[in-house]
This record gives sequence, C-alpha cells and structure tokens, in this order.
Amino acid sequence: MSDENHTTDPREQLKDKILADYPRLGSEDKFTFACHPDVPCFNRCCNDVNIFLSPYDVLRMKKCLGMASSDFLNTYALLPVQKDMKTPVVVLRMNDDESKVCPFLTDEGCGIYSDRPWPCRMYPLGLAAQKDTPDGWRGDRFYFLLQEEVCRGFEEPKEWTVGEWIENQGIDEYDKWGEGFKELTIHRFFEEGGVLTPEKMHMFFTACYDLDKFRGFVFESTLLQRFEVDEDFVEEMRYDDEELLRFAFLWLRFTLFGEKAVKVKEHVIEAYKGKLEKKELFEKEPSKGPEEESR
Ligand code: SF4
Ligand code: SF4
Repeated sequence: MSDENHTTDPREQLKDKILADYPRLGSEDKFTFACHPDVPCFNRCCNDVNIFLSPYDVLRMKKCLGMASSDFLNTYALLPVQKDMKTPVVVLRMNDDESKVCPFLTDEGCGIYSDRPWPCRMYPLGLAAQKDTPDGWRGDRFYFLLQEEVCRGFEEPKEWTVGEWIENQGIDEYDKWGEGFKELTIHRFFEEGGVLTPEKMHMFFTACYDLDKFRGFVFESTLLQRFEVDEDFVEEMRYDDEELLRFAFLWLRFTLFGEKAVKVKEHVIEAYKGKLEKKELFEKEPSKGPEEESR
C-alpha cells in the first residue's frame, strides 16, 4: 500500500476499520439490547473512549451545563491535530487520571443524559458510509453494531429494529444538524484536493464549535453590513445558538468554498466593481480568522 493510503486522521482510521470488518444493518434489521442500572456492567463503558463531537453535540452539552462555548471546549474537549486532517476534530476529554472516566459519569449514570452526544445516543449502533461510492456520505449509508466486550446489554431480551432505536434515542434531531455539518466536511472542495489554510481551519472551528466567540464575530465585526441577512434571523441569532449555528454553516459555505449560501449586499459588490470581478468577490479568500477580522 502506498503512503497516500495511510491516514493519521483518527476518524478516517476508524471508518476504514468499520468498512472492512463490521456487518452492515438497515433500519429494519433487529438486535436485542437494553441498558439500565440493573445490568451487571452498569457505568463500566463510559471510560477511555474516543467520542468525536459534532457542533450540535457541543451546542447541546454546553447549554445543558450553562457554560460558554470557549469554557466548555477548554474544559471538556481535546482538539487532536494530525497533518492530513482536512477539518477540525473535537473529542470529548476523559478524566486525566488512571480511570479515564468520562467527566459526566455519575453513580446514577450519565449526568447529561438528556443532552448526551450523538455517539452515546447511538450506542450500540454506529453509522458509516461506503466511501468508494460516487456519492460518498451522500450515498450508501449503513448501520453497524458496536459490541464492546464489557457490554452485557446484548444479553437483555428487549428487541429493537434499528429504526426503533434511532427514534427512541432522539437521534433524528442530531442527524438533521449532522447533515448540515457533513455538507461542509465532505465538500467537493476536499474531493478536488483542496486544503484549508490554518486561518480557515481556525475559522471553521470557531464558527462550528465556539459559538459564543462566533457570535461576537458576527455582531461586533462588519459582517452583517456586508451580507443580506433577514432581520428576524439576525435577532434570533443574537440569543439562539441553533439559529447561530444555522448561519455559521451558511457563512462557512460562502467563505470557505465560495458558494452563494449568503448574499453579498449590492453596495459591497458596487464597491468592489472595477477592482475585482464578481466571481472573485465570491471566491475571495479571507486572510484572517474571525477574531482577528472583528477587531
Ligand atoms: S456523555 Fe454520558 S453517556 Fe457519554 S460517555 Fe459521558 S457519561 Fe457516558
Ligand atoms: S456496558 Fe452496555 S449495558 Fe453496560 S452500561 Fe454500558 S451501554 Fe449499558
């Protein structure tokens, strides 16, 4: 195998293993499983695990904990950096001691159960895509069972179809936001060999994960003077993290990939006329990260 086929991105390594080794399930396939305080393994699985967090996971968790996004990320997240990483990776930080227990685990189970992240909701299911299909993540997706050795939940008689489990665990809402995020992370820009500059990676991270900081950028910079954004939407973004994340996805599609996901105001286009072609305006690469640009 050539060097090009090796990846140090932990998400890609996990995907490769899943594609090679795991049986594929559809939404009508069945499995038996239950998790409750009476299973002999209760609370034994929430330690030393790699839990990749999506922007919506972070939004829900920081809201549940009443924390600002920067504080949440500083306290509960790891940001591994690998040289071939195309987009930022955020991982839930386990306690930094021998036990490596999740900081949210309590004697009664998950202390943030109503806002636990997607992978914790999905377990014992995982979701993957056949990445060699032309559509990649947009194409053939499949579920698989993650049977951890420690887990005795599979000995419980309760039977589920995959679809029933997804509904019962409230995963649809997470998947809706996951779709928007994937539109960014699997953008054709990357398929065509595009690489984000460190400044753009930082911008990507801030807009998706550090929402309170991004809010400062949106409202304290000239951004809203340069783009046509509906007034009601602007007011909602001021207080509502979900609306802000919705805008973040649109704005990143514009600023990272040159898509017309947000509309530049006429007077800004006029100001550029003669200096830049319109196409260049839309594809112009910002040279600074959000916080630098907001100064
Ligand atoms: S967030 Fe909750 S369910 Fe997920 S690992 Fe931590 S304690 Fe367990
Ligand atoms: S190991 Fe399985 S059954 Fe046991 S607590 Fe964890 S998820 Fe539940």
